[in-house]
Amino acid sequence: MKSYHGNTMVLRALNTIKQGQQCFVNRYSLRYDAYPRAERARMLVAGGLSPCQCTACRKDWTPCSGDLPWICNGLGIEPTDFRDVVKEVIGVNIEAAKAHLPRLISLLQQCERSEPSGSALTLKKLIAHCYVIFGNKRLL
Ligand SMILES: [Zn+2]
Repeated sequence: MKSYHGNTMVLRALNTIKQGQQCFVNRYSLRYDAYPRAERARMLVAGGLSPCQCTACRKDWTPCSGDLPWICNGLGIEPTDFRDVVKEVIGVNIEAAKAHLPRLISLLQQCERSEPSGSALTLKKLIAHCYVIFGNKRLL
């Protein structure tokens, strides 16, 4: 994921990178949770690029919203409070994002290998929002 700290772009890996593993950078926002594989490939080819060879494209991943009770249990909250966590992380609550981030990362590490099934996608989105908040804090 990328975030900005002033005019500096910061790239972070949200998955564990094994030694020798090829990494892909999503430069065109054609994420598997936003567009089906055929649409992503069509847009890349229309732009004069080759179809992507990342795991999500090769295996035609479809998004999964995850196991909300498992995420809530890992965060130590009731499922009815999950909406509040999302609001805090997506909003501009820096202290809440700082408090949630370590637990979100820990949960993601537990389930990253199960993506696209499981909760990895939901956790990645929440983690990305935390880092966006940190990057934008100078604007507040
Ligand atoms: Zn891809």
